[in-house]
Amino acid sequence: MGLATPALAGPKAARRSPKFNHVSPARETRELEFDLDKLSCLTQRPQEFLIRSSWFKRGSADEIVKGRATFQRAVTYRTEQYGYFRGFGKPAMNAHAPGHYARKTTFFGHSIVLHEKAIPALKCVEKALRESGKAKDYKIGGIGGLRFHNTYHGGEVSNHVYGLAIDIDSDRNTCCGCVGNWSKHPLCRRKGSVFNRTALPPTWVDTFENHGFYWLGHDPMEDTMHFEFLGDPDKVLAKDAKTEKPEKSEKSAKTDDGAEATTEE
Ligand SMILES: [Zn+2]
Repeated sequence: MGLATPALAGPKAARRSPKFNHVSPARETRELEFDLDKLSCLTQRPQEFLIRSSWFKRGSADEIVKGRATFQRAVTYRTEQYGYFRGFGKPAMNAHAPGHYARKTTFFGHSIVLHEKAIPALKCVEKALRESGKAKDYKIGGIGGLRFHNTYHGGEVSNHVYGLAIDIDSDRNTCCGCVGNWSKHPLCRRKGSVFNRTALPPTWVDTFENHGFYWLGHDPMEDTMHFEFLGDPDKVLAKDAKTEKPEKSEKSAKTDDGAEATTEE
């Protein structure tokens, strides 16, 4: 029985390799932009069963089995909602890979490629930060989104491959529980609250979490650069809102693509 499920070895095994090349988005990735003023955003918290700490239960065998089942439920959900990534779920669950749904957008002026269903949520975060005056609490240097390869080990799959995750300034917001150079960052020597070990302010984390994003700074891994959209994509915007901007012409979109930003990782 155990052989039928991926070997989930627990949080400690799920470490990312410290260095890898970011795959630049395909040239033909279309844009998806919204007019922030016209966005009608709802708030929601991340869905519990999608949070990775729900999958690694300590204690009784029952708890461990339950955790694995939750992981499988999360894989099925992500495959059906966001695309089939090889090795996780089944091709029959979704005719397309996540890259099929990838769109280019901006977050505080920085270009990013994400799943089209996650983009409205990110735009709502930007709108909320701007309107509350909390935007000034942090200035972004660089961001990364969709990846085409899995950077997790130990049978897990990164939400970056589904286009659901965003990394913000990996040089200032490190991952003290990760392998390699990440954990050697000077900030990792600081004790106490995780906010002592990251540049990101609580105001930003709270705002992300109010729009369905989970912050991996709360995870034992302390991947503080990383937010992932674990909300319900159907509950991001008020139903009657039609706020999407028309796509730019093919020509101008391609011009922008040439100088695509890459993540620091
Ligand atoms: Zn990340």
